[in-house]
Amino acid sequence: MKVLKFGGTSVANAKNIELVKDIVSKSTSKTAVVVSAFGGVTDLLLEAAQLASIHQKSYKDVFLKIEERHINTIKELIPVTNQSKVLSKVKTELNILETLLEGAFFIGEITPKLSDKIVSYGELLSSYIISEYFIAQGLNTAYKDSRELIKTNANYGKAAIKNFNETNSLIKNFFNSTESKITVLGGFIASSTQGDSTTLGRGGSDYTASIIAAAIDAENLEIWTDVSGMFTANPRIVKQAKAIANISYEEAMELSHFGAKVLYPPTIQPVLAKGISIAIKNTFNPESQGTIITKNLDKNGRTVRGISHIENISLLSLEGSGMVGIPGISKRFFEVLSVAQISIVLITQASSEHSICVGISADDVTTAEAAINSEFEYEISLRKIKPVLVENDLAIIALVGDHMKNHQGLSGKMFSTLGKNNVNIRVIAQGSSERNISAVIDKCDVKKALNALHEKFFEENTKQLNLFIMGVGNVGSKLLHQIKQQKKYLKDNLKLNIRVVGISNSRTMFFDEDGISLKNWETQLASGDKADKEKFFSKVNELNYRNSIFIDNTASDVVSRTYADYLRNSISVVTCNKIACSSEYDNYSKLKYLAQKYNAPFLFETNVGAGLPIIDTLKHLIASGDKILKIQAVLSGSLNFVFNNFSSSTTFHDIVKEAQEEGYTEPDPKIDLSGIDVARKILILARESGYKLDIDEITNKPFLPKESLATTNNEDFFASLIKNEDSFQDMFNESDKKDCKLKYVAQFENGKASVGLQHIPKGHDFYNLEGSDNIVLFFTERYPNQPMIIKGAGAGADVTASGIFADIIRIGNF
Ligand code: ADP
Ligand code: ASP
Ligand code: MG
Repeated sequence: MKVLKFGGTSVANAKNIELVKDIVSKSTSKTAVVVSAFGGVTDLLLEAAQLASIHQKSYKDVFLKIEERHINTIKELIPVTNQSKVLSKVKTELNILETLLEGAFFIGEITPKLSDKIVSYGELLSSYIISEYFIAQGLNTAYKDSRELIKTNANYGKAAIKNFNETNSLIKNFFNSTESKITVLGGFIASSTQGDSTTLGRGGSDYTASIIAAAIDAENLEIWTDVSGMFTANPRIVKQAKAIANISYEEAMELSHFGAKVLYPPTIQPVLAKGISIAIKNTFNPESQGTIITKNLDKNGRTVRGISHIENISLLSLEGSGMVGIPGISKRFFEVLSVAQISIVLITQASSEHSICVGISADDVTTAEAAINSEFEYEISLRKIKPVLVENDLAIIALVGDHMKNHQGLSGKMFSTLGKNNVNIRVIAQGSSERNISAVIDKCDVKKALNALHEKFFEENTKQLNLFIMGVGNVGSKLLHQIKQQKKYLKDNLKLNIRVVGISNSRTMFFDEDGISLKNWETQLASGDKADKEKFFSKVNELNYRNSIFIDNTASDVVSRTYADYLRNSISVVTCNKIACSSEYDNYSKLKYLAQKYNAPFLFETNVGAGLPIIDTLKHLIASGDKILKIQAVLSGSLNFVFNNFSSSTTFHDIVKEAQEEGYTEPDPKIDLSGIDVARKILILARESGYKLDIDEITNKPFLPKESLATTNNEDFFASLIKNEDSFQDMFNESDKKDCKLKYVAQFENGKASVGLQHIPKGHDFYNLEGSDNIVLFFTERYPNQPMIIKGAGAGADVTASGIFADIIRIGNF
């Protein structure tokens, strides 16, 4: 014989029930089909009961919804010729249900006993309707009320089997005597010795099926649900989760105990004792392999099998000097919780015996708090013990695997992964079987924690980077293009999975949690919400993804002031915007401090020399113990472009205009031509070399006439260049006469920095610098005479974008 169980979604409507019939009709042996209530009906019944008991008329609306669901399903499933009998039976049952709800309404109370009676209608009706549908479809089918077979105590809401021998023989006798090939029964429902309806706990239909399978020594038990097996983590939260092909009873039990809802925890026990395997299958994809739960035969299996979590956990801690060395405190603590029927999910006790801490369901917290404080009232009054400390809004995450005990370092890996993602761990517990390591964390971090752990333990070092990009103009759009082109390469070769989740320009912003399409991001962005820097940050923070990176491609001061918010929330920052790093020293050092404290890299390689690896090299020199003595550099691709192209046969204005149009200058070209941009760059290099310096300490001899410097917009600025062409020609001639070239040079030596135009003679390292190239000479203790030279294109959207991309990849390898 076989037992097949179909869950709520599998029987949610007529269409799904047809799929169930297809599966059942393929069974060649005698089969027990256990069904849940139509999906969502149990919740509706509980809601109706609740509303009725607090005198809310709206319970009638909920009842009507329940009625409609069942009547409609009958009309869709059962041919008209057979309908009237089924409709009349179901209507009779619904009338009784309505009377029960009315009872609750008039009494103004709902007892656990009445609640179970009401809730049992979900499975009673679904199983009856499905059995009639099977009969109408010509399947050899009978209906059986499972309350007649499964006998429990009177612990309503979560009743336990009173006497397995009795239940087993009722089941055996029934199936031995029935002639029908198929028997349809409702899961979840049972009855007490007195004959009252009871229920086996939410999700309990799995348990019903297992009890029946064990009683009749079934060949196997199949749990048909809405996912293709038991997954390495809840597939609704971790998209990369995979179905586990084989898993041991113990592992499955541990995973389900720690929240893998796909299997109700007590389900394992009855079949484990009989060695009957459980298959978890997908009603909506019957061909997929699913999961087989059996004895652990695999001695060298994976260490971590799965990760599960339970939301809505509260921690209760009992603390006080009066607990040390006093026997019996723990006993009383646990006894009082047990008497109050509160189940404990997790326990930890400090070895000093100074405190006991338990994790329980948040639903039980009020009862538990009152019970404990009353139990220890005397000690609390003497201040030997503090009133129980309650912490809410927590969750438990657990790593599960039979082979974890043989492996060192798993918990280290687990906690460092959580730490890197700034997930605060409140409590750690390891099951004595060492089959599980669990941690209590904030509820709001669950998604991030599960995904980060899943990535670490199951995705062969693949790392997902979640990007939030502000500024999609020149540089930003190039960056998006490069990401699109390299995505596959990075995934295949560097195991980096790059996903752009949010983008914004100055007008609109757009988010897509599944990743923005890099083909038509422009259209999507245009359809987005109004741009707002604070809202952008709030959204990034609220999504709370692991490995989140904020990328600033703007030149905005306001945007640069938001970096601290990102870093404080462990969101890395990558920027080509120089403003933050060249702002007041305190702000620069605060950002570096926050990056370190919150484990979130703050990278700005493109602040100097666009894509050239200048800052990174500097960091490596210093980290390896070298000391910077002097820096000489041509750091402005824009100014280099201007002075390489400017001559007596051109005008200064036209060359500057061309530089701006080619994207070689900042949007406001005066920032480059006034020398501010170069001053900022040498300031950043000085700071990165370990010197404390501010922008006003940098000597800057401007070459622009005062009039041009005083302009306040680009139009006036360009007009002033035309007007002052003579002075620019003089500047050129003076240098040309000496056979020199004009170069805008930045220098740092002995703690002092300066920037300015210089006449560079033939033979100098700077003389042949072409186009928009940059060059940096690092004179260090290890390179005192022959400097280390970095040279190459130092401006342009493409190279800047690639520099940002390189920073993103650095974070990926972090
Ligand atoms: P049914 O109504 O069929 O009993 P449930 O809703 O009780 O289905 O259980 C299936 C659900 O369990 C899935 O839809 C999924 O959201 C959830 N789930 C949680 N953890 C896991 C896991 N590790 N593997 C598979 N499903 C899981
Ligand atoms: N219908 C019950 C519930 O929703 C039992 C089950 O589906 O397993 O909890
Ligand atoms: Mg279930």
